[in-house]
Amino acid sequence: KRFAGDFSGNLMQRQTPDVLFSTVEPADFDKTELIDFNEELSIEIGLGKLDNNKDFLVAQNLPENVETYATAYAGHQFGNWAGQLGDGRAIYAGEIINKNHQTEIQWKGAGATPYSRHADGRAVLRSSIREYLMSEAMFHLGVPTTRALSLSKTGEDVIRDIQYSGNPQKEQGAVVVRTAESFLRFGHFELLSARNQTDLLKQLADYTIENFYQEVNSESNPNKYIDWFQAICDRTLKMIIDWYRVGFVHGVMNTDNMSILGLTIDYGPFSMMDGYDLDFTPNTTDLPGKRYAFGKQGQISHWNLAALANAIFPLINDSEVLEKILDDYGKRFWIEHDKMLANKFGFDEVLPEDERFFTEWQQLLQDFNLDYTLFFQSLEKRDSEIKTDDFSNSSYRVLNESELKRLSNFIEKYQARKLKNKILETESVELMSKANPKFILRNYLLFEAIQDSENGDYELFFKLKEALQNPYENRFPEFNQKRPSKYDNQTGCSQL
Ligand code: AMP
Ligand code: MG
Ligand code: MG
Repeated sequence: KRFAGDFSGNLMQRQTPDVLFSTVEPADFDKTELIDFNEELSIEIGLGKLDNNKDFLVAQNLPENVETYATAYAGHQFGNWAGQLGDGRAIYAGEIINKNHQTEIQWKGAGATPYSRHADGRAVLRSSIREYLMSEAMFHLGVPTTRALSLSKTGEDVIRDIQYSGNPQKEQGAVVVRTAESFLRFGHFELLSARNQTDLLKQLADYTIENFYQEVNSESNPNKYIDWFQAICDRTLKMIIDWYRVGFVHGVMNTDNMSILGLTIDYGPFSMMDGYDLDFTPNTTDLPGKRYAFGKQGQISHWNLAALANAIFPLINDSEVLEKILDDYGKRFWIEHDKMLANKFGFDEVLPEDERFFTEWQQLLQDFNLDYTLFFQSLEKRDSEIKTDDFSNSSYRVLNESELKRLSNFIEKYQARKLKNKILETESVELMSKANPKFILRNYLLFEAIQDSENGDYELFFKLKEALQNPYENRFPEFNQKRPSKYDNQTGCSQL
């Protein structure tokens, strides 16, 4: 039975006990406006050029063969079991297959679903611009992520109280079409496990393995589910290490926001980090302990994987082997983290003494609040061209004499360490240039683009879109700068 997606203000959260999804009818929007369409992605997934398909991008006048639905999942939010959740404002258009490659398509913000609880199922232009630009920025940075196909305005006003002031404001509604091989989350598996629906859990796991984990898919493999969990850990680890490499902070790493494919998903209150700070969180609603801060993402991914291990336990029934995989994750995190740092520094390998060097570096950046991205650009030069001034200029505060001394001592130490490289200096610079972005989508840039776009001026939006496509080249020096001081106290974006 179809569910009418129009928000009436008193929708009940629907429990869907025996299934994982409900068919859903998107809302009607009659004054939509397309802002941008990602033609390259559209062709890649098999949708082709836009032609007359503008309506599809806002979920209107859908072809007969498109069956729209939303899925149920569960999750741990901020460390606590949250029970059944689901796609509250994401509606699936199904999947498209091109050259044997499968892509799922979703509208975000196209109306309420049975899983919307008391919310409206809508998205505002502000958060839609954030997801649209950031997910593509991550893609071009080489970080596993969901992608964005289009951004449209719905023509509707949406009411939000961003300041929690009790004085809600009208904002412009928008819809993003996003794509991924699959939008399955840890939470989908947690839901079935919590309901003791082991048969359905097994079916979903088998579907996931067959379609997305061919490397472990063998009928005769007696350790299929164990190997699968190991592979999930591998993919998640790669994603998290990439987040650290580019300075991305997700902000809401609840298990319902963790992709089973190790993709960055659910762009909410995320932010790129400007000044290095392990405690940096863009999420104003994060707990006092800042559970989802930059420095905690490794630990939290581990915690989330443990929650997943619990969920899929009925398929494995061997806690020792699961604990071993999780233990290894913790160890491998640091090994991979150090390799990643070595690349950023242009070292050809991690030496035993590097652990101390990295710790000293981390303390230095933390103490001086140096810009993470600019710091590595200042290093990414031939030794003779490295200048202490570049580093001190990338601090978000004024450094005193003794601090400057500490900085130049560190740079000398770095240069001495680099002499141990067995590769040429040009090769070392090459390693660095691939690991260190020259363009990151800083939060203040997004903020400015949003302000302009809300007033109908999309110039900065399109300029950022161009800049984010070549993040390892310095094509836009005006964006490759420290955050201006007027934005020092800005946080991410907690209200979506
Ligand atoms: P998030 O923190 O964005 O991952 O959202 C947590 C849950 O709330 C998910 O199930 C979302 O689908 C749901 N949700 C968030 N915003 C809305 C909204 N405006 N309308 C309906 N559901 C929402
Ligand atoms: Mg309709
Ligand atoms: Mg979510």
